[in-house]
Amino acid sequence: MTTSDASTSDASTSDASTSETSPDDTHSRYELDETGFNEVPKKWRKFYRHWGGPTDKLARNEVICPVCKIVIRSARELQPGDKLYCMPCMSRMVVKEGPDGHLFAEVIF
Ligand SMILES: [Zn+2]
Repeated sequence: MTTSDASTSDASTSDASTSETSPDDTHSRYELDETGFNEVPKKWRKFYRHWGGPTDKLARNEVICPVCKIVIRSARELQPGDKLYCMPCMSRMVVKEGPDGHLFAEVIF
């Protein structure tokens, strides 16, 4: 009974030290599913999908290839400066942030 006080404080300290996986990291990870995109080898299909037009809302991990209008998907949240490769049209691009905060890709020549 006398040690109950010590064990509670012990538990709270170990709880605070479990910050090896930052919550930010888990938040920005995306689960990618097959989308039926069949223009690239099976292994890479989940990283691309067809764009559904202006009504298609892109997630923070998706950006449209300005060359072939295919949506490139990343397993992580995209940040300005990220480099992407569009396998269907073999373009290299870099992620940029527009004035309204939306992300778009610019082809690197
Ligand atoms: Zn492309």
